[in-house]
Amino acid sequence: MALMTREEYIESLRKLDLKVYMFGKRVENVVDNPIIRPSMNSVAMTYELAQQDEYKDLLTTKSHLTGETVNRFTHIHQSTDDLVKKIKMQRLLGQKTASCFQRCVGMDAFNALYSTTYEMDKEYGTNYHERFKKYLLMAQENDWTVDGAMTDPKGDRGLSPSKQADPDLFLHINEVREDGIIVTGAKCHQTGSLNSHEHIFMPTQALSDDDKDYAVSFAVPSDVEGMFMILGRQSCDTRKLEEGADIDLGNSGFGGHECLVVLDHVFVPNERVFMCRENKYAGLLVERFAGYHRQSYACKTGVGDVLIGAAALAADYNGAAKASHIKDKLIEMMHLNETMWACSVACSYEGYKTESGAYLIDLLLANVCKQNVTRFPYDIARYAEDIAGGLMVTLPSEADFRHPELGPVMKKYYSGKVGTSTENRLRVLRLIENLCLGTAAVGYRTESMHGAGSPQAQRIMISRQGNLPAKKQMAREIAHIDVSKDDI
Ligand code: SF4
Ligand code: FE
Repeated sequence: MALMTREEYIESLRKLDLKVYMFGKRVENVVDNPIIRPSMNSVAMTYELAQQDEYKDLLTTKSHLTGETVNRFTHIHQSTDDLVKKIKMQRLLGQKTASCFQRCVGMDAFNALYSTTYEMDKEYGTNYHERFKKYLLMAQENDWTVDGAMTDPKGDRGLSPSKQADPDLFLHINEVREDGIIVTGAKCHQTGSLNSHEHIFMPTQALSDDDKDYAVSFAVPSDVEGMFMILGRQSCDTRKLEEGADIDLGNSGFGGHECLVVLDHVFVPNERVFMCRENKYAGLLVERFAGYHRQSYACKTGVGDVLIGAAALAADYNGAAKASHIKDKLIEMMHLNETMWACSVACSYEGYKTESGAYLIDLLLANVCKQNVTRFPYDIARYAEDIAGGLMVTLPSEADFRHPELGPVMKKYYSGKVGTSTENRLRVLRLIENLCLGTAAVGYRTESMHGAGSPQAQRIMISRQGNLPAKKQMAREIAHIDVSKDDI
């Protein structure tokens, strides 16, 4: 079985015995939980579109391991064309779900580990790459959604992992046995945990020799003994529990989620261990995963397309579409969205082949892409709120709208452009609320800031990759500067 249908994917999750907590209680039925289900629907879209002829070219490809058709989310990029198709797929999924569809973290982990394990083996004579390829083959053949987990809790940011008061604040090795390793720790803000068959764990930063026990990467099933998740809250999340909730959700079909994932003395057999104390390679793995995921933030342009469309619709319903300042704001929103896209496209086309054969993006441009993403969705959201008007946050509830006496009052006073439906006007305002302030704001706004690394992480990479000395030399040559006359 290489490709699962949407239904097969959802059914396959029922077989997992996940340990999930929400609002202080264990969630017994994760798959059908109304708060979780929209996020599952978003991942399910990665299966659904792979079945449709129109999208097969983007959503599927041939495995370089077997030549079989696989979902692109389990693929190792073999060319710059693959890198470009990856982001086109992500923009498309952003447009179809208006949320985080979660499966990218695993894809980015696969690709980062593929080239890093190859280079580690070359230096140390280990066999991580072959192990990893076997694991990848299982992921492709089973069409798994695999989560990629990187962000440790980190405790006191001024202290390295081994100097923390509590060693568990960074995921670490407790014990190396003949047949595998025992690990303890946690990963924060973990996207898509509950909708993933498997998890791959990676270190969160470059590590010194003192921190060897923190240089660990491995894969486990999501219901492995000793692992559990606590679901993150989202603004307006309990609206999903309201009876008949639809309009008030803004986006009733889709969503994203993040968890705190805790591992308490989890055993990982050797064949699933891809790094064990090779601290020299922790930084490289982080750099590559982060680079791929910064390229992946093309997803926000797909969500941005929906938000721009919603703002334009709100202007239509308000009867304000012809106002020149509205038109100009919409143009600015599109300009910002396409600027993010341009960097993601550029870093893909400028990608190159690593020694392993896998293609890597241009890291400088991928970091510039993500740096723009830390800013522009905030501006796009500001324009959307401006165009929508205050009603987006002062609107009474759907229950009032459905009420036999209050409903007609709302229809009368919240009517917009002559000849348009008040209900449709309310729907689009709630969608904007959802994207800017509600459950999807996690994925569209704050995740744009912190997901794939906070802004400073990209600035460090930009300073490393930007080659300032070469730029200084260019200036010297143009200005005929004789360095022998300087003492700098
Ligand atoms: Fe994919 Fe974007 Fe979600 Fe990351 S934030 S998992 S790139 S949809
Ligand atoms: Fe993310």
